[in-house]
Amino acid sequence: MHPLRSLILAAAGNDAIRRLVATAPVSRDVVRRFVAGEQTSDAIDVTRELVASGRSVTLDHLGEDVADAEHADQNVRAYLELLDALHAEGLAPKAEVSVKLSALGQKLGERLALANASRVCAAAEQCGTTVTLDMEDHTTTDSTLRVLAELRRSWPSTGAVLQSYLRRTFDDCKSLAGSRVRLVKGAYAEPDSVAFDGHEVDLSYVRCVNALLTGDGYPMFATHDPRLVRIVAERARWYDRKPGTYEYQMLFGVRQEEQRRLAREGETVRVYVPYGSQWYGYLMRRLAERPANTTFFARALVSHS
Ligand SMILES: Cc1cc2nc3c(=O)[nH]c(=O)nc-3n(C[C@H](O)[C@H](O)[C@H](O)COP(=O)(O)OP(=O)(O)OC[C@H]3O[C@@H](n4cnc5c(N)ncnc54)[C@H](O)[C@@H]3O)c2cc1C
Repeated sequence: MHPLRSLILAAAGNDAIRRLVATAPVSRDVVRRFVAGEQTSDAIDVTRELVASGRSVTLDHLGEDVADAEHADQNVRAYLELLDALHAEGLAPKAEVSVKLSALGQKLGERLALANASRVCAAAEQCGTTVTLDMEDHTTTDSTLRVLAELRRSWPSTGAVLQSYLRRTFDDCKSLAGSRVRLVKGAYAEPDSVAFDGHEVDLSYVRCVNALLTGDGYPMFATHDPRLVRIVAERARWYDRKPGTYEYQMLFGVRQEEQRRLAREGETVRVYVPYGSQWYGYLMRRLAERPANTTFFARALVSHS
C-alpha cells in the first residue's frame, strides 16, 4: 500500500487529527465536493439532479462503528426518513440505499445488525427500492456475508459488495455471481496476509469481472479506473451482456464527465451519494485514494490553522 495512503488511514483513527480536520474552515469546501450535505433534504436535492441527468443513485447515510444500540437505532431511523422522502418525491425507482452494518450495531452483535438491517430492507421494499450492504474491513467480511444471506431469504435483491483486494474474493464472486453484487477494489488498510497490493488488486478485479459476468446475476462495477472501465465494457460485449443487465458505479464528485459519458452511451450509471454529519471517516478514505487531493487539503489546512 502507498505509504501516504497508510498514513492517512492511520490518521483517520486519531482523535486529535479528527478534531483539527472537522473544525477547520477549509474542510467544508473539500467535504462538499464529496458529500451531498448534512440533511435528508440535501440528499434528495442531489438525487433529483443526478436522476434528471440520466443517472441512478445509491445513498449512504454517513455514520459507522456505532458503540451503542441507541446510535444504531438513530441510523435506522435516518434511513427510514430517507426512504420515505425518496418515495414521496417519486425517486425510489432510480435511487436505492447503501448501508454499513457497523452503523447498525454490528460491533454490538450480529443479531442486532441483522434486526436493524431488516427494518431498512422492509422499508425499502415498501418504497419500491433496494438495499446494498457496503463491505467494511476484512474482520467483518464473514459476518456481513452471513447477514446478507439472512436478509436475502426475505429480500433476495439485497446487494452485496466484494473487494478485489482480498485474496478470498474470487471465490466469493463465484458463490455470489447469481445475485446483485457490487465489485470494488477495497478502501481499508489491510494486512498482506489477507490482501493483494498494487497491480495485483487490478488483476484480481479483472478475474472477478469475468466471474460475475459469466453468472446470471446483476453485477455492479464500482470503479473510476479508466483501464478497468474499458475492460468491463470489452468483457460485457464478450459475454453478450446488454446495457441494463449490469451497471457502472462511481462516487459523487469523482469523474463526473465519465459518468455522463457512460450514461449518454446508454449504460446504467449509479452514483454513490453520501450525506449526513458523520463525514470524517468517509472523507479520509477518499483522500487516501488520491494523493493529489490530500496535498491540496493538507496545504489548505496548514494555511488556515
Ligand atoms: C460506488 C462505489 C461504492 C463503493 N463501496 C465500497 C465498499 O462498500 N467497500 C469498500 O471497501 N470500498 C468501496 N468503494 C471504494 C473502492 O473500494 C475504492 O477505494 C475506490 O473506488 C477507488 O478505487 P478505484 O477503483 O476507483 O481505483 P483507483 O486506482 O483508486 O483510481 C483510479 C483512477 O480513478 C480516479 N480517482 C479515484 N479516486 C478518486 C478520487 N477520490 N478523486 C478523484 N479521482 C479519483 C483517478 O483518475 C485514479 O487514477 C466504493 C467505490 C465506489 C465507486
